[in-house]
Amino acid sequence: MRFSKLFAPTTKDAPKDAVLPSHIYLVRGGFISQVGSGVYNFLPLGKIVLDKISKVVKEELDRVGALQTELGFITPSKLWKQSGRYDKFGKELLRFSDRKNNEFVLGPTHEEAMVDLVKGRVKSYKQLPINLYQINTKFRDEARPRYGLLRGREFLMKDGYSFHENEESLKEEFALMEQTYGKILDRLGLEYRVVFADSGAIGGSGSKEFMVLAKNGEDDIVTCASCDYAANIEAAKRTKPKIDNPQIAKGKTHTPDIKTIEDVSKFFKVNSSCAVKAIVKKAIFADFSEIVVFFIRGSDTLQETKALSASLALELVDVSEKELEDVGLIAGFIGPDVEIKKFVDLELKDEESLICGANELDYHFGGYSFKDREFEYVDLLEVCKGDLCSCCGGVLDITKGIEVGHIFELGDKYSKALDANFLDRNGKAKPFVMGTYGIGISRLVAVVVEQHHDEKGSLWTKETSPFELTIIISNIKDEAQKSFGEDLYQKLKEEGVEVLLDDRAERFGYKMSDFELLGFPKAVIVGKGLVDGEVQIVDRKSLEKTNISKDEIFDKLMEF
Ligand code: ATP
Ligand code: MG
Repeated sequence: MRFSKLFAPTTKDAPKDAVLPSHIYLVRGGFISQVGSGVYNFLPLGKIVLDKISKVVKEELDRVGALQTELGFITPSKLWKQSGRYDKFGKELLRFSDRKNNEFVLGPTHEEAMVDLVKGRVKSYKQLPINLYQINTKFRDEARPRYGLLRGREFLMKDGYSFHENEESLKEEFALMEQTYGKILDRLGLEYRVVFADSGAIGGSGSKEFMVLAKNGEDDIVTCASCDYAANIEAAKRTKPKIDNPQIAKGKTHTPDIKTIEDVSKFFKVNSSCAVKAIVKKAIFADFSEIVVFFIRGSDTLQETKALSASLALELVDVSEKELEDVGLIAGFIGPDVEIKKFVDLELKDEESLICGANELDYHFGGYSFKDREFEYVDLLEVCKGDLCSCCGGVLDITKGIEVGHIFELGDKYSKALDANFLDRNGKAKPFVMGTYGIGISRLVAVVVEQHHDEKGSLWTKETSPFELTIIISNIKDEAQKSFGEDLYQKLKEEGVEVLLDDRAERFGYKMSDFELLGFPKAVIVGKGLVDGEVQIVDRKSLEKTNISKDEIFDKLMEF
């Protein structure tokens, strides 16, 4: 490719809303341009990267027997209603009708569509297992699309779905997909961790996420210093800390205007871990909402995703004082015996000698016991740095990551709902046991830059760089430079090297700064040294320049 013919409009200026290096460099380098909120065009360079990543994903999946398909981007709403996700997916799901009033959704993920494809076509256990995938556009009307390609509304995803006769076969495929995703990320040159995850709106029994370590990541990952344990903070567990609650006199105590956990612990002269904290939220469902209360230890923090999962709501939002009053709750004095929908953290089970609200203005209970009390106990806690690992007791730490892949053991949730069955070994109809596996192709374009860049631009990795090499002709008006550069370019192209010839009639400095911004691994500068028989190789990462004899440059490059 000749730079003079390439459409890569590089700029000095970054978009106003761009804060992350990947967003800045991808726009400045002319890889992508914004269409609207969370929607991007891929220009030629961006499209090359996108295709390279897709190719790696495809090669690794095909190697382990997955089959590529391509489903319609739009899915009939009927299927989503049947699975129960039409309402559950909330506002992220874009619903619309055609001219004949047929209802559709823009596919944010394709469990329903893939089950419908397999239904009635895969009939017997003899045709199982089968793993079908596609690399296709998704649409999610994200509440806060941002960071360029990292959180778009329209994005490219590889989504795969496996169908099995039993759990054992699913577990085998799940392990194979975990291994395959690892290989894909290794080939892309990314440092990552596989972590236990929350299954979110997709549902299912177990799931793992692939997190690329990056300081600008939106996800918090809990890792253990002593063992392999790693989990998304939304799913992370800890060893229950040993807390010896001091004996607190049983009974109702007058606590005028003592409302916060801090006030309570000061008043009773105890640690905040002895108090029970009430967190009130409004749970929003498809056609109604209700007030719910979550109870945790005063020293702990509520993990919002765990709370959301427990409540089964679409969304949890804060409540106003008026809404509290309307349901008879008294802010600052809410205790577990209140008559309202509530969830209690698992670590409070059987705990004694605690302080909690008495559900009466200006009163708290002392010596409260959870023993022999019937509550819905669930894990609601956010693990903190310094907590102890639930596997080995080691110390937990928290680091930042970007989710690039997510694999789920789904079970028969979708096949049952959509009535998709096969005949098992005993000739009995049984719903498919399923797995689902997603990897964000367009997000990966940004993730590579997020993990590999410097203050001048991107540093593409071996398998993601649009070109392996740029030949920069320093002065295009110099016939000797021009013809040497052209010659080298042709010879390398014949050898199959992905080479860009910077033959533009621009200043050398301008071409060099484009080379730095675009971030291909190496450049050859054909410049003034040519009269003395020398050219230079520049390494993009170190920016080191090495003089090489013009007669040796071709062989040297072929060695790389
Ligand atoms: P997130 O937690 O980041 O919103 P998710 O858990 O909703 O992602 P999945 O449903 O697991 O995403 O989708 C599989 C993969 O698709 C993700 O691992 C991610 O790489 C990619 N992906 C999801 N949402 C987006 C988005 N808005 N923009 C770009 N890629 C996305
Ligand atoms: Mg996910």
